[in-house]
Amino acid sequence: MLRIQQYQKVKSLAEAYELLQKNKNNQIIAGMLWLKMEDRTIPVGIDLSDLDLDKIIEDEKSFVIGANVTLRQLEVHQKLNLWTHDVMKDAIKDIVGVQFRNLATIGGSVFSRFGFSDILCALMCLKCEIVLYHGGKMDIVDFVNSDFQRDIITHIIIYKDHDKRCFICHRNSATDISALNLSVWQRGDEYLITVGARPQKAKQYSITGNNNEEIANKLKAQVECSGNMRASKEYREALSYGLCLKALNKIGEQ
Ligand SMILES: Cc1cc2nc3c(=O)[nH]c(=O)nc-3n(C[C@H](O)[C@H](O)[C@H](O)COP(=O)(O)OP(=O)(O)OC[C@H]3O[C@@H](n4cnc5c(N)ncnc54)[C@H](O)[C@@H]3O)c2cc1C
Repeated sequence: MLRIQQYQKVKSLAEAYELLQKNKNNQIIAGMLWLKMEDRTIPVGIDLSDLDLDKIIEDEKSFVIGANVTLRQLEVHQKLNLWTHDVMKDAIKDIVGVQFRNLATIGGSVFSRFGFSDILCALMCLKCEIVLYHGGKMDIVDFVNSDFQRDIITHIIIYKDHDKRCFICHRNSATDISALNLSVWQRGDEYLITVGARPQKAKQYSITGNNNEEIANKLKAQVECSGNMRASKEYREALSYGLCLKALNKIGEQ
């Protein structure tokens, strides 16, 4: 059971950061969908909901997304999905159900850096930066590989460009987590292919090739997977080939 000894709705990020440093068990609380499943005591639960972090602001170059924006807001944001070839929508639409996605936040989803995360795999095929209160701006790939613990995500920035990209995943049954997820970012002749739920956290591979089959075969030869209750190592490797071909075909239609 989760026990929160003191609840603090902060008035500034500085106040939140100070509280976070005071005790290593103090935690930012966002949608609480993951936190509520944990068996632990949190001395101070820090609520950022008064800090105006629940908006998606579009400018000429980017979408600036507050950490408290919900997964549902991203899923149904027409302009964001238009610019990103529906990558965010495709990564989010199968996560549990609408009620869940109305509460779960992008900040909580990104900060947790889960191996199975569809959201991280999708963000890695976008030009995307994570903004940390103390650590400043960081490329999404560097953030995924970092072990930042005592900082606050304030925003996520997705930059606009005209590159082609696609997200795709395989679930053994509806609402389960992905057995494998994969995103492709076509940057000129290079394909940046991210594979997540390997089951380890998402890893990006840079691949070139003359046709879709060659690229998918190269990915299958390089991808590092292992087995768990959802899929064996061999099944994941086979999935990486199949999902990659599907994604490349989708990109061909863009
Ligand atoms: C049953 C279930 C099924 C799921 N299925 C999927 C799935 O299929 N695909 C997928 O991608 N994800 C899935 N998830 C993960 C889910 O998206 C995240 O657990 C959830 O969105 C976390 O967001 P939250 O707002 O509820 O965070 P919380 O539970 O409130 O917080 C999670 C962690 O992030 C920290 N945190 C929150 N906000 C910030 C911030 N701004 N800065 C720093 N730290 C912060 C908290 O302190 C805590 O440690 C699933 C989760 C559950 C519980």
